[in-house]
Amino acid sequence: FLPHLVASMEQVEETYIMIKPDGVQRGLVGEVISRFEKKGFKLTGLKLFHCPKDLAEEHYKDLKSKSFFPKLIDYITSGPVVCMGWEGIGVVASARKLIGATNPLQAEPGTIRGDLAVQTGRNVVHGSDSPENGKREIALWFKEGELFEWTPVQAPWLTE
Ligand code: GDP
Ligand code: MG
Repeated sequence: FLPHLVASMEQVEETYIMIKPDGVQRGLVGEVISRFEKKGFKLTGLKLFHCPKDLAEEHYKDLKSKSFFPKLIDYITSGPVVCMGWEGIGVVASARKLIGATNPLQAEPGTIRGDLAVQTGRNVVHGSDSPENGKREIALWFKEGELFEWTPVQAPWLTE
């Protein structure tokens, strides 16, 4: 290993991105996936999935005490979602930037929520908020055999 290669490998992270039921119902699946693809991140897992209540509660367990928690669980379990794993250097923070602020009215134009949504309770997409949660959420939403290791042919044109 060359030292510079080791240094850049260390920043490779994984994040859990999910298109919520409103994004699926509104036909935004391709649009959302496309933004992560075009940015240059690597897709490691992808499935359409109807989330059971217990999984939704586990995923959002930090928000259990919030008044909107029951509504949030109803929303996430109301129809199929698209579950994705994305990998790349700095992907966790970068994905949060691509997604935009939690409240779509405050999200910048150019972000997914800024361009495609109007209300916090229907904000189209989820993204992990830390590398630790990225790992935790990918383990939570994907089973063995549903994640893939592969090398995109464009890799040398995206990273030095
Ligand atoms: P995120 O990390 O930007 O998705 O935001 P949070 O982790 O704070 O909240 C998780 C999700 O809960 C949000 O994406 C919203 O779908 C939902 N949520 C957060 N705050 C509210 C709220 O005040 N009202 C409603 N209805 N939903 C909320
Ligand atoms: Mg969050």
